[in-house]
Amino acid sequence: MLRTVICPGSFDPVTNGHLDILERTSVLFDRIIVAVGGNPYKEPLFSIAERIQMIREATRHLSNVEVEAFEGLTVNYAKEKGAIAILRGLRVNSDFEYEFMMASMNRKLEPKIENIFMMTSNAYAYLSSSAVKEVASLGGDVTDLVPEHVAVKLNEKFTKI
Ligand code: ADP
Repeated sequence: MLRTVICPGSFDPVTNGHLDILERTSVLFDRIIVAVGGNPYKEPLFSIAERIQMIREATRHLSNVEVEAFEGLTVNYAKEKGAIAILRGLRVNSDFEYEFMMASMNRKLEPKIENIFMMTSNAYAYLSSSAVKEVASLGGDVTDLVPEHVAVKLNEKFTKI
């Protein structure tokens, strides 16, 4: 049986923290689907198509990673894709409460799909797409925080605004 996992998120844009989680997940599962969706609480900088393109480029070396857009309930999407689990990354303490609530809700909606969590690597514990956007918008250097092509896209975005 092929073991498929869904990694949902907004990825606006993909960071080295996301990539660390995807690289580590790619050796644990046969097929990883990065599911790029909107977050009702966050106004996006990049379109879904731009975000997908940036993740595809960043994960080209991972042959079992696919990237798709999704909307609606994550559990429904996971079921549709035949996934056995939904994986989320955990960083600082503040992630925990929200993720715990979401996992409990997902489990209630679909008990057959497991919700699993991967701890961030220390280097990325305080790295978020929001922080990257804030630094880039103020002209700061984000080259150690995101893949090179993402830094270029951020620069383009903020010099146009
Ligand atoms: P969302 O808006 O759904 O939280 P994000 O793009 O912010 O989407 O995050 C997608 C997933 O990646 C989440 O599981 C999040 O916890 C995880 N993630 C984000 N940044 C990091 C990081 N620096 N280290 C580990 N996991 C991360």
